[in-house]
Amino acid sequence: MKKTTFLKLKMREASFISRALLSSRHPVLAHLIPMRRCNLACGYCNEYDHTSKPIDLAIIKSRLDKLADLGTSIVTISGGEPMMHPELDQVIHHIRQRGMIAGLISNGYYFTPERIKRLNKAGLEYLQISIDNVEPDEVSRKSLRVLDKKLRYLSEYADFHVNINSVIGGGIKNPEDALAVARRAVELGFSTTVGVIHDNDGTLKPLSKREKDIFQQVKKMGNKDHARLNWFQDSIAEGKPYNWRCRAGARYLYICEEGLVHWCSQQRGYPGIPLEQYTMEDFDREYQTEKWCAPTCTLQCVHQVGILDNWRDPQKTPAQLAEEQKNGKSVGEMIGAD
Ligand code: SF4
Ligand code: SF4
Repeated sequence: MKKTTFLKLKMREASFISRALLSSRHPVLAHLIPMRRCNLACGYCNEYDHTSKPIDLAIIKSRLDKLADLGTSIVTISGGEPMMHPELDQVIHHIRQRGMIAGLISNGYYFTPERIKRLNKAGLEYLQISIDNVEPDEVSRKSLRVLDKKLRYLSEYADFHVNINSVIGGGIKNPEDALAVARRAVELGFSTTVGVIHDNDGTLKPLSKREKDIFQQVKKMGNKDHARLNWFQDSIAEGKPYNWRCRAGARYLYICEEGLVHWCSQQRGYPGIPLEQYTMEDFDREYQTEKWCAPTCTLQCVHQVGILDNWRDPQKTPAQLAEEQKNGKSVGEMIGAD
């Protein structure tokens, strides 16, 4: 990434962070799904299929316009595998035209020099690739050995920030792989993060001593900003619940391929309201609602967004909110009272 592009991005980020601290009434980050289809089939994933069609560009643009009108700062395109969408460049270009930061989450398989240059031109600003292991196995083919050539292309041609995420815990066979992935990322000039994941059965178990050692080593090699923002991971690594305020449905939005707003990729179905009908009343309700799944949540980006408001506006359980509404108080009045 050129130094001038990097500085411009940092200045834009700083201005979005100040705006988010000054006002809590706009989304900070939205994940938008332009197609559910993926070329892979990772064993732990519930976010893909092999048959769905790409969503029309005009429909995606109208969703982006609505996000811009709500005041959203960052839009990250995710999937499935979003690089399979034939009009991805136009999607990214539209995010930039509407003044938002453009990010992409990909499995890395489709990066060629030509494709990277087109993404530069479209205005992509952030890319994240998660690499699960060094050698492909029956659970994941997001593997360093398979992707190394793609990473070299990115290092040479990308004019956007690249972050490589590795994972630890959750029964990942070789925790040392996370270290190998992080080392290679740093060697190629990328930032690196590490995700702590739940055990296969979804329970929160402490990492083993070996996993904890590797986790700390990878964290030290990583992006210092991310390490500062991801202190929740230390509790998760110890198998302990973490106390925070998840602002999903408000400051963070997950927009599925059908255009519905959900809390996040792991809590799809609620609120399930079409984005075009999403109002600030919905935003305020979700901002105020305590999420039952928060103590064991491992979704890094939603935690990071949550930090902006953790110090203000305590949340209420859905039952408390329903009770107050039954007693004649609107959500707006309750927020006013706060
Ligand atoms: S590459 Fe990503 S979306 Fe595709 S199956 Fe794997 S985790 Fe799921
Ligand atoms: S706490 Fe985590 S899992 Fe629950 S809604 Fe928030 S982001 Fe999703």
